[in-house]
Amino acid sequence: MSNFTCNKCGGTNDAETSPTGAAVSPMQEIPFSNDYWKKIQSIACSSCWAEWKEMEVKVINEYRLNMIEREHRQTLKRFMHDFLNVDGTSESAGQAPQAVASEWTPES
Ligand SMILES: [Zn+2]
Repeated sequence: MSNFTCNKCGGTNDAETSPTGAAVSPMQEIPFSNDYWKKIQSIACSSCWAEWKEMEVKVINEYRLNMIEREHRQTLKRFMHDFLNVDGTSESAGQAPQAVASEWTPES
């Protein structure tokens, strides 16, 4: 029985049901201990999270994002949501789900 599925790679924590044949585990540490990040943790495996952390640096550099700017933080969040497939549908790629967006406070 698996109780964790990664939205990005589809891997689960049970090797028998995981599409890759190997069990994956949820990301280990979350930046903030709040509901928003716990949700992210519930849908992102540790290796996909590590991939995002590399991508994040590229995105920040590429788009010259300044984390002091709220608008820039929102941009970064949109990229993260797309990358990790947070809402689990390709339809909303490019957009952060409203419910999640409203919960997100980058510095809290
Ligand atoms: Zn994954």
